[in-house]
Amino acid sequence: MAAAAAAQPVSMTAAGVRTALVAGAAAPATVRVRAVVTFADETQPIYFVQDETGGIAVVPRSPSPAVRPGQRVVVTGRMELGPRGPTLVDAEVEVAGAGARPAPRPVSAAALEQGAADGVLVAVQGRTRRASVEGSLTTLTLAAGTASIRVFAGSGAPREAAAAEALVEVVGIPVPRVRDGIVVGRELLVAQPDDVRVVAAAPDDPYAAPRITIAELGRARQQYAGRRVRLRGTVTRQRPGRSLYLRDESGNAYVETALETPVVPGDVVEAIGFADVDEFAPYLADAEYRKVADGPPPEPIDATPAELASGRLDAALVRTEAVLIGVERGRDELTFVLQHPSLTFNAHVLIPRSEGLIDDLPLGSHLRVTGICSVVVDTDRVPRSFRLQLRDAADVEVVSRPSSSAAFGAGWAAWAGVSLAAIALGALGLVYRRSVAQERTIRRQFAREAALKARFDDIFERSSDLILVHDRRGRIATVNRAAEQASGYTREELRPLDPEWIVSSTYLHEVRHLIEQGPEAPPRSFRAELITRRSQKVPIEVHARVVASDGQVTGVTAVARNLSERDQLDAQLRQAQKMEAVGRLATGIAHDFNNLITVLLSYSDELIEKIPPESDLYHPAQEIQQAAERASALTEQLLSFSRRQIVVPQTVDLNAAVANMHDLLKRLLGADITLDVNLEPGLGLVRVDQAQVGQVMMNLAVNARDAMPHGGTLTIETANVEMGEDAIDAIPGPHVLLRVSDTGVGMPPEVRRRLFEPFFTTKEAGRGTGLGMSMVQAIVRQSGGHITVESEPGHGTTFRLYFPRIMQEDEAGPEAAPLPQGPLPEASGVVLIAEDDAAVRRLAVRELTRRGYDVLQASDGVEALDLVRGHAGRLDLLIADVVMPRLNGPDLASAVETLRPGLPVLYITGHPERAGQGLTAAEMESGRVLLKPFTGSTLVDRVDAVLAAARRTG
Ligand code: ADP
Ligand code: MG
Repeated sequence: MAAAAAAQPVSMTAAGVRTALVAGAAAPATVRVRAVVTFADETQPIYFVQDETGGIAVVPRSPSPAVRPGQRVVVTGRMELGPRGPTLVDAEVEVAGAGARPAPRPVSAAALEQGAADGVLVAVQGRTRRASVEGSLTTLTLAAGTASIRVFAGSGAPREAAAAEALVEVVGIPVPRVRDGIVVGRELLVAQPDDVRVVAAAPDDPYAAPRITIAELGRARQQYAGRRVRLRGTVTRQRPGRSLYLRDESGNAYVETALETPVVPGDVVEAIGFADVDEFAPYLADAEYRKVADGPPPEPIDATPAELASGRLDAALVRTEAVLIGVERGRDELTFVLQHPSLTFNAHVLIPRSEGLIDDLPLGSHLRVTGICSVVVDTDRVPRSFRLQLRDAADVEVVSRPSSSAAFGAGWAAWAGVSLAAIALGALGLVYRRSVAQERTIRRQFAREAALKARFDDIFERSSDLILVHDRRGRIATVNRAAEQASGYTREELRPLDPEWIVSSTYLHEVRHLIEQGPEAPPRSFRAELITRRSQKVPIEVHARVVASDGQVTGVTAVARNLSERDQLDAQLRQAQKMEAVGRLATGIAHDFNNLITVLLSYSDELIEKIPPESDLYHPAQEIQQAAERASALTEQLLSFSRRQIVVPQTVDLNAAVANMHDLLKRLLGADITLDVNLEPGLGLVRVDQAQVGQVMMNLAVNARDAMPHGGTLTIETANVEMGEDAIDAIPGPHVLLRVSDTGVGMPPEVRRRLFEPFFTTKEAGRGTGLGMSMVQAIVRQSGGHITVESEPGHGTTFRLYFPRIMQEDEAGPEAAPLPQGPLPEASGVVLIAEDDAAVRRLAVRELTRRGYDVLQASDGVEALDLVRGHAGRLDLLIADVVMPRLNGPDLASAVETLRPGLPVLYITGHPERAGQGLTAAEMESGRVLLKPFTGSTLVDRVDAVLAAARRTG
């Protein structure tokens, strides 16, 4: 018994603890978890334990050497979201029995990097990318594909594992890697000394790595991920312990290396390293090199500043001419501000190497400078400017000096304006100048931001809403594809047109009003009309906001939604696709974003530390920091949203699931809200992801709480129900109903209609994300179920969630033995599946074969049709993907109909909005369409149901 616990501890699963903490229930609850120890290391006061639902960390109140991996334990502690993820702290650990450590779960590095296996004992393979040995502790960085995992290998790691490119298998516990309070990746804690195993030793001769040219290096990222490549080139510059610049006949490369072996410009070297860095110039990371020949000092390439700014000569040794207009001395380098009629640029030289340089170098001197060109790219990855890295004093030649100050003044009068700007830039430079290493970080950020921007551009184009961008006079600057389609004009045609041709006067009035109000104008929502090329008027709902920069209005963006009836129906179908996009976007960018935010946070911290509080800059720096913190919270939410995609379906008793959450929900709802729970005895079982049920309940409860600010009642009921043939959106048959209703404020029709839309919220900024209900809907659908809502303003809200009931208890969990000896009688029949996605096809074939069906497969419609023509035997069902190359699903089905009249068809599709085109409404509603993504068991259940129905009718 927990000695000091005031309240009875609530029994929970590991996944339950995770859900509760990730969903943000802050109440410090004492809970009890029964689990098996997977990690207990005498040197650290932390354990990891896991049950069949997942794993969590445990910080014991008093660590005991008696706790060892494999033991069954009962842990009683307080829930906390710690640096190692969901944790039970201040925990009492009772040993309940002995046993072996559970087998590690094999995972891919990519899944691990996304946090899919946090806290669980896993085995992962990768190639050593980098290793550091500090005292007896080894830390490895493993590369697998493009994922990168840090491994704390402890003292037992074999030395061979530390060699670059060794293929190693590691057993350990993945935990979030946190820097400055932000998750920046994953770390693997190794549980036991022998848990690092070398599968294949590093190559004997690393210099046998495939040799490529520098031009090829720029394109090698995917091809050689995780493996090293070899370059041969002439050294143009060395910074010992940091970098090497190389040149070959195909181009110039940046080589990042910790080696200090001295080389001089002109030496020919071979360098081996990893190509997987996304940089502007060809970039070799974590490299080693060796000298293979002597050579004459390399001749710099002569170029004008404009040519250098074009990016073509990035990382090359170049020479150019310009006039000196400023010199700044930084901590470790000198910066020359140089001026050419076309542009101003900086040249840097390290102070220890600048000996004697500025003693006699008056401003206005005309210089010829030699150095490594390093381009500065903007967020579109377009080169905007460049810097020169000078090697030493010999890289500066004085062509002429200003003869007198008068001549200087007259000679440069034409450049005066530009020079002023340059000096201002120089001053900024003083504040922001960083060491070379930091510059590199910034360059990487640029590249990443550019990639992000590309993804956002993609979203701009794919948005189903119309997006119109106006300039500051209200004219149309650009529109997205949806707006092109709706208006019938291309964006090139639109630009010169008078906006009055395209939108109604209300619209223009609103836009002008926004512009007049200035940069602080609040966004406006209004209804208006779009006038198409054929002079049709389309009703639209518009949200418009000003775009400002430097306190000036630079334009207006308007997001418009087509309100005509047809489009409304379309929009409902589009919802599923949008969900998928949001999920993909979230995982895609959240990690990148976290990295960007890390940079923002650490630099703003540094600024705040260095700037005196009375300075004008102090407050802006604080603002940056706060904004970055908000951004970080938002990405966490996006990440937890996207985790919905990792589904572990289990056989679940919803009554038990609700009962398990009872105390948690009570705490969440607070004292003013009564929780009424009504569970039907003998409730059927359903197949869902246990953790997701938790998420669903939490979301519904939080929404209900928000809808009842002055108290009320939340009622949760379960029941066995039968769905009739007339049910839309659900397969007829036995279901389990979960009914959640509140006595809150309810919803007007326009809120009810948009309720499930991602990011739709009526809550004030910072309180609602608008992701809750879309997540609930996605989870219910993934389980093959459906959800309805009933609500009226002032009369509360009722959600009904229907899950297909599974008839017999299906003991086979995801990790358990395969199905054959399962309790269902083996199915029989011949099923043809036409699906172009190989992974989906494989999954379907495997699951259906396990169930007992004979499966024929085709990778598109034409192949499927040929198969049917040549197949004389029995055929019971056609499963057809709707969108396929060559011949789509509906067309395939009608062709097959002439060969095999009456053959039942089950459509599968990930594009519900396109499915609508080829399918009849009856088909859409008959349970004959299965939406992707689905789990194997959902597919099998659906096939069983369709075949059973076909047998009944004839
Ligand atoms: P969020 O809660 O972050 O706003 P949700 O997707 O959970 O996002 O909900 C979207 C919107 O639906 C809410 O902002 C609210 O207007 C409405 N809503 C959801 N549940 C209820 C409810 N039980 N009662 C009234 N309105 C609700
Ligand atoms: Mg919500």
